[in-house]
Amino acid sequence: MYRNHYNGTLRKADVGTKVTLVGWVAQRRNLGSLLFLDLRDTTGIVQCVSANPDDLPDVRNEYVVQVEGAVQAKDVPNPNLPTGEVEVNIEKLTVINKAQTTPFIIADKTDALEETRLQYRYLDLRRPILQRNLRIRNKICHAAREYFEENNFLEVETPMLNLSSPEGAKEYLVPSRLHHGSFYALPQSPQVWKQMLMIAGVDRYYQIARCFRDEDLRADRQPEFTQIDLETSFLSQDEILTIMEGFLKKAFKEAADVDIQTPLRRIPYWTAMDTYGSDKPDTRFGLELHDVSVILKKGTFEGFGEKDYVKGIVVPGVAATTSRKNLDELNLEARKFSLKGVIALKYLNGALEGSFTKFLNEDILKELVAELGLKEGDLFLFASSASRRQIDNGLGALRTLYARKLGLIKPGTYDLLWVVDFPMFTPVEGEEGKYVAEHHPFTRPRDEDLDKLDTKPEDVLAYAYDIVINGYEAGGGTLRIYDHDTQWKIFKLLGLSDEDVSNKFGWFINAFNYGAPPHGGIAFGLDRLTMIMAGTENIRDVIAFPKNLQAVDPTSKAPREVSPDQLEILGLDLKEE
Ligand code: ASP
Repeated sequence: MYRNHYNGTLRKADVGTKVTLVGWVAQRRNLGSLLFLDLRDTTGIVQCVSANPDDLPDVRNEYVVQVEGAVQAKDVPNPNLPTGEVEVNIEKLTVINKAQTTPFIIADKTDALEETRLQYRYLDLRRPILQRNLRIRNKICHAAREYFEENNFLEVETPMLNLSSPEGAKEYLVPSRLHHGSFYALPQSPQVWKQMLMIAGVDRYYQIARCFRDEDLRADRQPEFTQIDLETSFLSQDEILTIMEGFLKKAFKEAADVDIQTPLRRIPYWTAMDTYGSDKPDTRFGLELHDVSVILKKGTFEGFGEKDYVKGIVVPGVAATTSRKNLDELNLEARKFSLKGVIALKYLNGALEGSFTKFLNEDILKELVAELGLKEGDLFLFASSASRRQIDNGLGALRTLYARKLGLIKPGTYDLLWVVDFPMFTPVEGEEGKYVAEHHPFTRPRDEDLDKLDTKPEDVLAYAYDIVINGYEAGGGTLRIYDHDTQWKIFKLLGLSDEDVSNKFGWFINAFNYGAPPHGGIAFGLDRLTMIMAGTENIRDVIAFPKNLQAVDPTSKAPREVSPDQLEILGLDLKEE
């Protein structure tokens, strides 16, 4: 028997118990007459101690060892360890396997480069914090399986080798050996398959599904990622959201021990944009956007275009401490957020200050103060743009920047809400009459907006919803189109030719001709949910073997060249670079 207890579970109540433990030597301190070993396993670390170090075999960091001994109370408890009230008195120490000196010290606090940690990921994963993240991820999956099983969802696997049919991002292609010149595509999501399952009468489906998108990577993106993917038949949007809230409540409780109050708030897309400048608003803090177009255009400033939006945010209490230099830096930030710049007005000693005030008479100033509800020391920052999206997005980003700067976000708080009523389409910037789908082409336009499809597509809202947690989009879904003609029309509106629709989606929408039920679903980003519950902004912290920012697996170094033979079998010839 290797062990009869796990290291991280030992507590005061175990004092006196004889234990056999195994694990890795996390740290060794030899004080001559006393030897301390910190022994680590998947559950944590416990301190082991011996008053006869000379009788024990020599061990080093990361050796795999077995310790036999009795649990005893520590004279001075270590408040930083859950096992800190006890230690194990080593009676027998056996070396099970040796270890070379590791490339970095294996502890939560590390200054090792991330690339090195990823290269030796099996060592990195021994760090308790990463073990904890894996466990949180596992608990979310477990909650999903249990909850959706209880709610009559059927777990069904869908194909990995698919027809190429761009959903938006670039696809990973897989060459076919049997059909030279033909390619499969890895799924960006199981979207079309889960809809087919509804047409097939499955009623409720779920899958913890791997998805692939060949996009440029950022801190929160990976080329392969995981969705908790769901689809249902014969349910309204409200019914779907309610079921999904039940899952979130359970997942937060079981994985993070957080109580979520349901039902969650539902905010229409345009309200979110107008108020917070974002379709994934973080509402743990205020700093809401104010539209001051009408008021400020009454002044003598000639720089505003007739159709410009003039909007801003009030940052409380910082007017006196904001210097010229701070404002110059802020302008640089604002440009990064696609704003031309921001203008500042300070409310000090009961009056508005700032060079822009020369364009505003007393009445306008008064109206502005009243509209914004300004208090002594407030700073009002505003900008203008002819594009509603641009100004909202820019100010939304500034709002978050200030919230972080001013520490307005209480750590450990969770703010969940639904954003609903998304537009069906996003106009392509600079290309009149061109649109992309805001969610995806299978999204159902709202019944009351169907007649606008031909006249004003940009005004069509959809049965589409995102779950937003602490300012992150943690999932999104829609009700789906379930009739052939509407689906065809949407593809055409998105610029596909008849031939393209037939070739790429014909196999799919023909199924709508054989009795498709009304259906709708959602996909939660498992990586994102885990990041939120684990409190990290780095997606690589929640995936066992992630790719780096160059889409390379640093452990195995994939992707790599393959042999000419392998290419030959696939009928491929590489172009000279
Ligand atoms: N397939 C969609 C996505 O990947 C989610 C959904 O609409 O259910 O975003």
